[in-house]
Amino acid sequence: MKFLFLAFIALSAHAATPVSSSSEIAPYGDTADLGCFDAAYAKQLGVKYGVDWSSFEDGMQLCDNSKQGKMMLNILVMIDKGKIGPTKKHGFDHQFFTGDYIKYFRDRIKTIQVDTECGVDWAVACVVNQEPTMHVEAPLFDNETLAFQLTTLIHEARHVDGYLHVACETGPYAGVDGTCDSSYNEAGSYAVEVEYETRIALNGVNFNPMFKTFARLEAADEVESSFVDKPSAGSPLLVLVDKADSHLAELSADGKKLVEHAQTVVPPGSNIVDRAKGANVILADRAAAPLYLDYYSFTLFPQAPMYGVIGSTMRDFTAKWTPAKRADFVDMLNDISGRGYQIRAFKSGLEASKGADQAPSVRLPEATEPKSLDNVLPCLLNGKMQTGYFLRMASNHIYKVQISGTDDPMTLAKQSCVYPADIDRVVKYKTQLVALTIDGQLQVIGADGKRTPFLAADYAARRFSAVVGAKRYDELMQ
Ligand SMILES: [Zn+2]
Repeated sequence: MKFLFLAFIALSAHAATPVSSSSEIAPYGDTADLGCFDAAYAKQLGVKYGVDWSSFEDGMQLCDNSKQGKMMLNILVMIDKGKIGPTKKHGFDHQFFTGDYIKYFRDRIKTIQVDTECGVDWAVACVVNQEPTMHVEAPLFDNETLAFQLTTLIHEARHVDGYLHVACETGPYAGVDGTCDSSYNEAGSYAVEVEYETRIALNGVNFNPMFKTFARLEAADEVESSFVDKPSAGSPLLVLVDKADSHLAELSADGKKLVEHAQTVVPPGSNIVDRAKGANVILADRAAAPLYLDYYSFTLFPQAPMYGVIGSTMRDFTAKWTPAKRADFVDMLNDISGRGYQIRAFKSGLEASKGADQAPSVRLPEATEPKSLDNVLPCLLNGKMQTGYFLRMASNHIYKVQISGTDDPMTLAKQSCVYPADIDRVVKYKTQLVALTIDGQLQVIGADGKRTPFLAADYAARRFSAVVGAKRYDELMQ
């Protein structure tokens, strides 16, 4: 099983490899894989990239991966030794940049220093007025992947060429200055960063497979949230769990053929929750830590190494939620309108979060327990699909969940539509409303409300135990 194989990789990550001028970077998937630096090599890297160690908390650090000074060395060894093979125009590689990344960075950034010059608490780094100083902020060292930390160097170097940000128009940073680029084609900091990440993922010569995965997920995240005009809408994807042996399958982009991932098996009884960059696989034992599914490699990862890409919610699941809270957990849902909220249903209540902010939780509307959270209603109203947040109770009553801000409690509005008792889940696939029945069949709900088999006749005998509507960027695949 792929999961066990990768669990082994993640565990072996704790045997950190020492770093010297002769080391290769292939063993390094993420920060924990980098061991102590040889002092002479560390000094040499600092001089080469203009690091002002006096600005780092505790200065240069050779061994301790919790220290800023060590994390900076980890970043520098990756840019210094990372090799990217020949590239051509493909996907998000627009050939904006065709030279050597080390030279590109060093020609523009002469000093790297830690300070608070960026002026906002969410920035990881900035360049001020095209000056050749990369100001590094504390959040760069807070739960970010090594791949993200590395590609931030190229992002900042691009600012020295005069590329500036604008305010995002959607997403969690809507209206906040300096959070988006207008478009991909203007080739600004985000575009050049995404191109770099795409190349690491697709053309990287000596990068660890896990590091490449992280680079690709960071690219997907930036494509999703860092451009006013998004360079791609992504391709819809349906991910299915086979009822017989719990292996995963995906529905091809034409909606006709199932692609089987026979080696990727989830524990029986798992539910899959879509997130912007992949899915959380919630186990039947709700108290157990969920797994993470990468839609690109169809690989299951343990959660902990993925914290940098999956955000605070799932970090909280294992780190901050008590065993009782985990056991009480039923389902969660991400905001499909991209405002950055997440709603979670517990047997005892409902709560929402945005980033680290907790919105007040609300009491359940009925004495019955919640069964699931859904993004689409199982019934068409006036022939149209309804999207939003919907809470399904065990009684099959449905409540629309509305949330206006982190300071306001959510409100619940009972819907006239009742969840058909024979349907387990409904998901949106392209413009269709697809239902998974309790007995494992996939049906499409027509404009007249009638249900017909969703898959081609060849698959009439197939049964599934879970389904999730997802999105993937073809541009990040070979
Ligand atoms: Zn920037």
